[in-house]
Amino acid sequence: MTVETSCPSCRVQYRVEASKVPEGGARAVCPRCGFDFMIRRSPARIWVLADDPALRSQVVRITLQDLTKELDLCFLSSRRRESIVEVMGTEHTPLPDVLVFGDMHVLLADPVLAALRSTPRVRRLLVSTHYNAELLASAEAFCQVSTHIVLPASDEEVRLRLASAIRIEVGTPPPTLARSTP
Ligand SMILES: [Zn+2]
Repeated sequence: MTVETSCPSCRVQYRVEASKVPEGGARAVCPRCGFDFMIRRSPARIWVLADDPALRSQVVRITLQDLTKELDLCFLSSRRRESIVEVMGTEHTPLPDVLVFGDMHVLLADPVLAALRSTPRVRRLLVSTHYNAELLASAEAFCQVSTHIVLPASDEEVRLRLASAIRIEVGTPPPTLARSTP
């Protein structure tokens, strides 16, 4: 069995033997452009805490939609977040790999963010509508921020930051990438 993947940076497509990809995924370096990214057997789970102005921005929406075929993407409304916080981490509601949130979620101490603010296996991606040192300091005091996107940003920058947030370090040697024929 093979896993189809593509480099998030130059978008060249590759095929990898599934047996060489461990459960948690494997790190790979694109032979063409040198970008360091993650290969998974199943799509990465991304939870987006909806309703923050930064997360309603066109570039973030489009990039996330564009990546949905590679991701298991879920937009959580504030009502849904109140109910999911009770059951997350159980068999039916596994924890996400990446939690995407905005400044408002930090200021309001969102329940999902509060519950996952220091869980090592969940990477936290903060999207801000503009640069604000004070807000960033309160975000860092409240939770560990793995990646920060400040808008406005180009599509390419949003894509690369997301790819970097999705990457999870694992201690396995990167599998060899064989370019798939188009
Ligand atoms: Zn590449």
